[in-house]
This record gives sequence, C-alpha cells and structure tokens, in this order.
Amino acid sequence: MKKKILVTGGAGFLGSHLCERLLNEGNEVICLDNYFTGQKQNVIHLLDNPYFELIRHDVTMPFFIEVDQIYNLACPASPVHYQYNPIKTIKTSVAGAINMLGLAKRIKARILQASTSEVYGDPKIHPQPESYWGYVNPIGTRACYDEGKRCAESLFVNYHRQNNVDIKIIRIFNTYGPRMHPHDGRVVSNFIVQALKGEDLTMYGDGKQTRSFQYVDDLIEGMIRLMNSREDFHGPVNIGNPGEFSILELAEKVIQMTGSKSKIIFQPLPEDDPMQRKPDITLAKKELNWEPKVHLDEGLKRTIDFFKTIVK
Ligand code: NAD
Ligand code: UDP
Repeated sequence: MKKKILVTGGAGFLGSHLCERLLNEGNEVICLDNYFTGQKQNVIHLLDNPYFELIRHDVTMPFFIEVDQIYNLACPASPVHYQYNPIKTIKTSVAGAINMLGLAKRIKARILQASTSEVYGDPKIHPQPESYWGYVNPIGTRACYDEGKRCAESLFVNYHRQNNVDIKIIRIFNTYGPRMHPHDGRVVSNFIVQALKGEDLTMYGDGKQTRSFQYVDDLIEGMIRLMNSREDFHGPVNIGNPGEFSILELAEKVIQMTGSKSKIIFQPLPEDDPMQRKPDITLAKKELNWEPKVHLDEGLKRTIDFFKTIVK
C-alpha cells in the first residue's frame, strides 16, 4: 500500500538512495535536509516526480507534517564532518531525535533511527552482536557522534516504553557506494578519488585496523525490511557486511582496480580510531531474513565507475 514517508537527511549519500527506492516502490516521499553534508544534486533526478517533495529544514528545530513513516537519517556521518562542529553534531543527534520522536508520537507514525556501529566504540568483543554495550570514550574527539547516537538510541527506547511510540533502530556498519561526496573524508571515497587523480593514498596508522564494508543497495534493503518488520520487533539490529578487510587491503584493492600508479603514504592514526569492526548479523538473518549480497569487489567496481564520472 502506498505510504507517505518522511526521510530526514534525505539529500545525503544514504538518504538519496532511500528516497529513490521508496519512490520506485510507489510511495510518496518528503525529503528534509539542511544541506550540511548532503546536496540537492543527490536528489535532482527525483524532482520531476510529483510524489517527491524536497524541504530545507534543520532537524534541531521542530517540524510538523502528517506521514505514515519517518526514517531519521539526518546527521553528518564522516569523522571529518561530524568533528567540524561537534556541538552541532550532538544537537543534531539528540535534539533531532527528540523533535522527530515528538512528531511520531503526535501523528502516530512509525519511526526508524539510523544508528551506527560506532555505538560499539573500539570494541573488545569481535564480531559485535547487538547485546554488546560497546567501549566508547565519552570525552574523545569521536564522542560527539558516538555518544550522540547512543543518546538517540536511549531516547528511542524510552519514547517507546513511556509513550508507546512505534520505533525501529538499525545499527549501520560502514557503507559505501555511488553518491558519496568526493570530499566526504571516509576511507572508500578518499582512496578512490586519490587513486583516480594519481595522488598518494593517505593511510592513517599502519593500515592493520579493519572494517567491514557494505554496499549501499544491501543497506537500503535491510533498512526497509526493518521498517516494515513485525510490530513487536524494534531492534537494535546490525546491518552490515561481515566480510572484514584491513585498510591496507582496501588500499591495495583500489589501486589495483583503478590501475592507478598512486603510492600509499602513512599518516598518524586519529584519536580513538577503532582497531577492528565486524557485524554479527545473526539477528538480521533471523528477524528480517536479510543478508548482504554484493561482494566488496563488485561494490567497489560500481563505486569506481561512479567516481570516474565526477573526478576530473
Ligand atoms: P551524509 O553526510 O551523506 O548524510 C547525512 C545527511 O544529513 C546530509 O544530507 C546532511 O546535510 C543532513 N543533515 C545533517 N545535519 C542535519 C540537520 N541538523 N538537519 C537536517 N539535515 C541534516 O551521511 P550518510 O552516510 O548518508 O549517513 C546517513 C545516516 O546514516 C547518518 O545518520 C549516519 O550517522 C548513519 N550511518 C551511516 C553510515 C555509513 O557508513 N554511511 C554508517 C553508520 C551510520
Ligand atoms: N582512513 C584512512 N585514510 C583515509 C580515511 C580513513 O586510513 O583517507 C582510515 C581511518 O583511520 C579508519 C578507517 O580508514 O581506520 C575507516 O575510516 P572512515 O572514516 O571511513 O570510517 P570509520 O572510522 O568511522 O569507520
């Protein structure tokens, strides 16, 4: 059945893919964004669709609309961007969650929070199941994001317990794909852009730290499945690709796949940079019948093809 759906942060990397998919499924989509890290360009191809609406708004301010579902994605996701104005990052996560939960409560909409594997911090349990409480430095440079997202999760479960708001929480692991901003600062986009330009690839630390990279289409599938899951399932649920790679392996893959002559240069590891990350996706398999389909090689190929069209 056709639904009216609000997507905050809809002009960002993930939000734009989500808006597109929801429209393709016949829904009406309202995309709300303050364009801090997102851009109109990401959704420009949707503007001709009469069922798509784009609104400039900051989620730290209240917003009123009648919808059936809310996907709350508004928040900078790259360490470079969320550390640029850490107070604003906390306000976006916390005040943004309060405003959107207040709206969901008032209009009785189902609401999904885009949480993150960062709630596990620099994890001491590997791979990370949802039951792990994490190992987060509350006063470090990543805390504005990690603790903001942890507080948002707490707000979500409490709006559910206290006010019976219909909530879903997804913990997203590192996701990459077309429409990442070329200056986004995250590792996949940085390495591809550097390789295509023939510049040195900037390796932070010795490159032995690991991440599990998930292609955007797999994430969007998991997110939509969670939103439409049975009423008494709220998560949090990990959505990520359990394939684990060191950052050095990633750099070598990108150099090889782009045929670049770039070299790797080593720079200091940023504070509190997690040493390992890999999702335990048992819960997603059981509850959502979901697992990722796109292997890193295939996803990187599609992402490199995208960047070839925009990197000059
Ligand atoms: P992104 O930076 O491309 O998108 C975030 C969007 O939110 C941007 O369009 C930005 O302009 C908008 N935004 C930021 N602050 C806002 C505010 N105050 N009001 C309104 N809009 C605001 O990042 P993304 O990768 O698309 O991430 C989307 C969501 O998914 C974020 O909440 C992020 O924390 C979460 N997430 C992403 C990843 C990933 O690997 N991409 C991993 C874990 C969690
Ligand atoms: N990284 C790197 N070079 C870069 C950007 C990132 O070596 O140009 C490293 C970073 O230190 C981290 C990993 O790649 O260990 C993933 O970084 P990203 O910012 O993409 O995501 P997050 O740290 O939030 O998982």
